[in-house]
Amino acid sequence: DGEVVHCIGCGAAVQTIDKNMIGYTPESALKKGLENGEVYCQRCFRLRHYNEIAPVSLSDDDFLKLLTKIASTDSLIVYVVDIFDVNGSMIPGLHRFVGDNPVLLVGNKLDVLPASLKKNKVKDWLRQRANAAGIRPIDVELISAKTNFDIDRLLDQIEKYRKGKDVYVVGVTNVGKSTLINSIVRQSTGIKELITTSRFPGTTLDRIDIPLDDGKLLVDTPGIIQPEQMAHHLVGKELKLVTPQKTIKPKVYQLNPEQTLFFGGVARFDYNSGDKKHGFTVYAENNLYIHRTKLVNADAFYASHVGNLLTPPSEENKTNFPPLEMHEFKTTRKSDVVIEGLGWVTVPADVVVSGWAPKGVSVLIRPAMI
Ligand code: GDP
Repeated sequence: DGEVVHCIGCGAAVQTIDKNMIGYTPESALKKGLENGEVYCQRCFRLRHYNEIAPVSLSDDDFLKLLTKIASTDSLIVYVVDIFDVNGSMIPGLHRFVGDNPVLLVGNKLDVLPASLKKNKVKDWLRQRANAAGIRPIDVELISAKTNFDIDRLLDQIEKYRKGKDVYVVGVTNVGKSTLINSIVRQSTGIKELITTSRFPGTTLDRIDIPLDDGKLLVDTPGIIQPEQMAHHLVGKELKLVTPQKTIKPKVYQLNPEQTLFFGGVARFDYNSGDKKHGFTVYAENNLYIHRTKLVNADAFYASHVGNLLTPPSEENKTNFPPLEMHEFKTTRKSDVVIEGLGWVTVPADVVVSGWAPKGVSVLIRPAMI
């Protein structure tokens, strides 16, 4: 009683309160474990029994410790980001910790992008966002962890750039890092017993070490929660309606100036002013409800319909959902207004438009990708 129990897999202090945090074990499993003298946290349990790696979240303090550890290594850093939520994928302060280590930037979730998109433009966009955060990647790769697309190629590139060193895979939660690690494990080992968990020396943080051919390691690090993600404002089913699940089918809306599109109740796009009616192409989850209305009525319309017609958020969740904030842009060329975590709207040159997203979620403009 009152004594701290440690997981015999990773050494984390076992807790039964927060299932997203390190060391979580369901009450019943803890009881059983204490009875037979073998307590595993849920993460290690799944790893042992199903060869499945569950995401885990850390406090900022723990994460800082982890980055400091990585900074002191001589290694290749593989930085996984979500192509659909690049700002929401940024690890705060990462540039200060990579030191002289090379960073291979990996854009995940390529499967949801339509084939008409130019991959080089996507790579340029990722590189540009990384540069803005102070990271200069040696290369950028686009993959789909879910469909295994170009995982082989990624492994070849890792082999090329690591030059005999260890590899650290880093990323915030929700970018698909666990899915990627699972895919790598299947591809490169196929043998359950090869994966081991161990601790970062001097911390309670667990890591997963995947042995490489030359005795070096590919290390999966815990993710940190990046609060500026659309995903954090939605639950379960709502998230599935907002996060693109399958290849996006672009939809074209002919809009007159002073018309508005609502994306469920999670985002909004206004065509404020321009010379005439234009086609605006929406790239978002295929099943997300899009509602067209007049700009003058839009605020009142949102206030009375959010949670019912304009959903997600659901009726129950709408009071917790942050208010939408406006970001206005004047275009000088064909551009994409990007609403992070949701998608984007391709707009013509010489118009004034606004993208609206929950407070904290980024809205950006970039040259059109098509
Ligand atoms: P982690 O928190 O970074 O470890 O992320 P997960 O691996 O748990 O994935 C987060 C969410 O993204 C899950 O719903 C996954 O199904 C989804 N996901 C992961 N990889 C891909 C991918 O390549 N394509 C698509 N469309 N979804 C993905």
